[in-house]
Amino acid sequence: MQDSKFKLLVVIIFAFLSSCKIKENADLILINGTIYTADSKNSVVQAIAVKEGKIVAAGSNINIQGLAGDQTQIIDLAGDFLMPGLIDAHAHFTSLGKSLININLLDSKNWEEIVSLVEQKAKETPKAEWIEGRGWHQDKWNSNTDLRFDGYPYHDLLSAVSPDHPVVLTHASGHALIANSKAMEMANISAETASPSGGRIVKDANNRLTGVFEENAMDLITNALNSKTLSKEKSLQRTKNYALKAQQEALQYGITCLQDAGADFQLLEELHQLILDSSIKIRIEAMLFDNNDRLLKEINRLPFPTQKPDFFNARQVKLYLDGALGSYGAWLLQAYSDNPKMLGQNTLPLTTLDSVIKACKAKQLQLCVHAIGDRGNREVLDYIEKNQVPPQLRWRIEHAQHIDSMDIPRFAKLGVIASVQTLHCTSDAPFVIKRLGRSRGAKTSYRWRDLLNADAKIANGTDAPVEKINPFENLYAAVTRKRLDNGLEFFPEQKMTRIEALRAYTIWNAYAMNREKDLGSLEFNKWADFIILDHNLLSCEDSEIPKTKVKACFIAGKKMN
Ligand SMILES: [Zn+2]
Repeated sequence: MQDSKFKLLVVIIFAFLSSCKIKENADLILINGTIYTADSKNSVVQAIAVKEGKIVAAGSNINIQGLAGDQTQIIDLAGDFLMPGLIDAHAHFTSLGKSLININLLDSKNWEEIVSLVEQKAKETPKAEWIEGRGWHQDKWNSNTDLRFDGYPYHDLLSAVSPDHPVVLTHASGHALIANSKAMEMANISAETASPSGGRIVKDANNRLTGVFEENAMDLITNALNSKTLSKEKSLQRTKNYALKAQQEALQYGITCLQDAGADFQLLEELHQLILDSSIKIRIEAMLFDNNDRLLKEINRLPFPTQKPDFFNARQVKLYLDGALGSYGAWLLQAYSDNPKMLGQNTLPLTTLDSVIKACKAKQLQLCVHAIGDRGNREVLDYIEKNQVPPQLRWRIEHAQHIDSMDIPRFAKLGVIASVQTLHCTSDAPFVIKRLGRSRGAKTSYRWRDLLNADAKIANGTDAPVEKINPFENLYAAVTRKRLDNGLEFFPEQKMTRIEALRAYTIWNAYAMNREKDLGSLEFNKWADFIILDHNLLSCEDSEIPKTKVKACFIAGKKMN
């Protein structure tokens, strides 16, 4: 070999070897921690190493420190608790942002308080502009004097303080709203307007409008609200405002991935765009939802052609089969205890359910059906069974709140995931017994222990903005079934263990959205999404869980806050 050629070869080999050496070094190492990995053994380790946004190793300080090079950033956790980034399996991303921008009624305690909030907002809002609010719940009020018909207030007081603004205030459940006179006028609603199927315009015994619209009747008002069709740019800007607000809230609580439980195609396109321009930095897995006619056509456009599949996908379809218990919408096998004429609302024709099931099965898409009442849950399971949907499609029942004992084993048998919101249990506790009676409440409501004992898969979320997106209050509800404000306990025998509750916010949720191969635990080659907390969620007292604060939040190895 010629001397010069030999020299060149040596240089190349040296360059190759040193590049290998660089490759072995981690970009980031975190040591001296209490790190819950959420792997299959629930391993707790001292240290993890990250390279190119992914976990390359988890183990002891000594082993992981061996992966450090000159360029490696080392963070000393000084004993802090670190765990995988939290995944909210069911939330409404832009609605959350919107609820934070509009009037928030979640903590409102009576009708007068709500009316005065609207009065204030009307003073600051240009005339004729819509005023929106969300979160009122009459069963959580401290005064019943305003509940003059069917457990609802009349719109009169509201209309009196807002004669020049259309006002729409959505119920906390999202399944009813109250509108003022101006809004009803703009929607062309009069006492003669008939209720649509699967919905009710609530009128009193004298056929007078109360202003309340339930389930499908809500569209009559919201269509008027959205009728000022926005230009593409304005619509994108509005979505961006909502998304940024929601993201800020999510990151503050260590939510690194969120499943949006219902977006139409336009919203999917806007979210995708905001992901591509990096306005949205958390991961979003979205479910397609639209009105029945459009939905069947749009299913053919799924899976959404995403350009950033690590951060955005829409491969799921959402349906609503019934309403919520609070607004008498949950579809029950037997009538409501406090309203013996009501069985709830079946908000979707069963023929449509059947067609969507067939379309999703043919396209191998994951279907997520909202079902709260025991009848609603049974119908979904029946249709899945009848259509022989393969369990590997991981279909989900969203909420799965009230389930007849006969149906509990069917979740595991059919491979159906119970996508629950543990905070709904304690939040709704004050009226569940009223609606269902004590023994039915005990036997059918929020049956997480029974589902887990029967080998069912569970996912957990908040349904934000129905509840706050705070995962620590949600975890507290999962492991205690106690309300934070007054300690009221709702059938504690159904609670989850600490480990189950943590897995139901990480790896189980990753499974529920088909991302368990790259998200949900801190294992080799998974994305380095993790959070550092000021409490050890494996060992702290129950009462400390809701006080937990996020000290730092990382997505793909990058610090977010
Ligand atoms: Zn929801």
